[in-house]
Amino acid sequence: FRGQVTLDGPSGTGKSSVARAVAARLGAAYLDTGAMYRAATVAVLDGGVDPDDAEAVARVVAAARIEVGTTAGEEVVLVDGVDVAERIRGAEVTRAVSPVSAVPAVRRQLVDQQRALVEAADAVVVEGRDIGTVVLPDATCKIYLTAAPEVRAERRAGQLGVTDPAEIAALAEDLRRRDEYDSSRADSPLRPASDAVIVDSTDLDREAVIDRVCELAGR
Ligand code: C5P
Repeated sequence: FRGQVTLDGPSGTGKSSVARAVAARLGAAYLDTGAMYRAATVAVLDGGVDPDDAEAVARVVAAARIEVGTTAGEEVVLVDGVDVAERIRGAEVTRAVSPVSAVPAVRRQLVDQQRALVEAADAVVVEGRDIGTVVLPDATCKIYLTAAPEVRAERRAGQLGVTDPAEIAALAEDLRRRDEYDSSRADSPLRPASDAVIVDSTDLDREAVIDRVCELAGR
């Protein structure tokens, strides 16, 4: 396989796990752009600035050295040379990443970096929100992965070890609210490219989604 597969969509669709598996199966590089926004958020938190202060956020992120690896199965995430691969998955970063990733200067910086990383690879799977629309509009294969909010909430609950139905319902409500917030922003990255294939994983298991994405990539 040679070319670029873009995998966009909201959280809770199993996107990351599918993207990694597809990259491994195709023998392609893998780029997790969410990890880059999360790493930028670590720089913001450690810089002691308010994540809602767009100007300060842009300044801190511009000065930070953000490095992410592109090998599936080997997560490398560094901020100014410090390993933050575990920290970027924590609650503190997850809470602050939305306002940081909404800052236009941050997006410009990271999109430039993403394009440079992709250019260095013959074959790559790139995962995010705006990859097919903004980062790689000429990608060879664009996929938008979606699933019903209830299913996404159940999967998220499974990851978190939550079993109480009321808590699962609250997770579903939270996902619905975040979708609405993300897709209502004027510059929302959360929409499929006009030439993307939409894969709805509501009734598909992980293996079936991986098969479908590999099949689309091979066309
Ligand atoms: O995919 P993940 O949950 O790790 O992404 C973390 C956050 O980074 C998202 O909630 C979104 O705010 C932001 N993001 C983005 N554009 C991307 C990837 C992620 O704005 N291409």
